[in-house]
Amino acid sequence: MATGTLTIDLDALAHNWRALDRMSGPDTETGAVVKADGYGLGAETVARVLAKAGARRFFVAVAEEGAAIRAALGRAPEIYVFGGHMPGDTEMIHDLDLIPLLNSIEQMTRHFEALPDGPFGVQLDTNMNRLGLELAEWAAVGEIALSKQPRLLMSHLASADDPDSDQSARQLETFRHMTDGTGVARSLSATGGTLLGRDYHFELTRPGVGLYGGLPFEDARPVARVTLPVIQTRTVEAGEQVGYNATWTAPRDSLIATVSGGYADGIHRAMSNRGALYAGDRACPIVGRVSMDLITVDVTDLPEVPDALDLLSLQQTVDQLAAHWGTTGYEVLTSLGARYQRRTVGTGPV
Ligand SMILES: *Cc1c(COP(=O)(O)O)cnc(C)c1O
Repeated sequence: MATGTLTIDLDALAHNWRALDRMSGPDTETGAVVKADGYGLGAETVARVLAKAGARRFFVAVAEEGAAIRAALGRAPEIYVFGGHMPGDTEMIHDLDLIPLLNSIEQMTRHFEALPDGPFGVQLDTNMNRLGLELAEWAAVGEIALSKQPRLLMSHLASADDPDSDQSARQLETFRHMTDGTGVARSLSATGGTLLGRDYHFELTRPGVGLYGGLPFEDARPVARVTLPVIQTRTVEAGEQVGYNATWTAPRDSLIATVSGGYADGIHRAMSNRGALYAGDRACPIVGRVSMDLITVDVTDLPEVPDALDLLSLQQTVDQLAAHWGTTGYEVLTSLGARYQRRTVGTGPV
């Protein structure tokens, strides 16, 4: 078998949810964001574990993503859709019992006409300028919306991963101004906001990346492990070159391992000649171009070449890997792709 293996640690996932849950007070519920196939780790697997850990409210980006979550969880948990109620979504929202977070007056009109008794929440824009009703729009239609008893009023922080930014405090103030006194459950914080403290928690937090082991939750336990089989090794003499376009020249006689995994598996081409795979705690530098299915690594200094090398492990977290190609842990996780053999370890909550 030459496919890489993606192993999800169910106990680490449950641990991360509980650790984030403990940061907020007893009046704050902790939800779970499971969009983009559970940040690439498998929506059904992660949703089941998070539900067993105690999550009751789940969030997806688009209505289509609700189907897998509903199938995994049954009828009880609430599933919210950040993208709201788009044209063509009515049947899905109704049949899967989804709760759209209405983002505009147009979406409100659509929802109230198509599903007059259907549950909904409202997304408010507090100057991230991405999704949600702006202050003036909310002033115009807030009363009507509130009379229909939304389940949730939410907004999203643009710079919560940066505790030094004053943008979060300004957004908090705007959110309060727009929602104080409504008596409706509120949610402002994803992972980053959850870490900013109780002022940001309201009735519900909705972490995503921290559950899956990513920054800004520094104390997260790694959830994903990725190992890649070594297909063959060869000796390359000093001065010989390796890979497409001969971008690496051996500075000494070297042992090169060709490993199964490439940019089709989320190992970005920007990692060509940068970063490393690991044999236990020993780094093996990536040399030459990352290609679609293969990478070449320098294993000259290993006492013995193992059958497989780690891309993600305790030695190399998603964020450390991300640093090599100038991106975030979010993008590393959601880029992993469909080719891995997927496994789980641990039982999750029993
Ligand atoms: C993705 C997303 C989240 C989760 O964010 P993390 O930073 O992964 O915790 C929460 N709310 C909204 C609106 C999102 O788009």
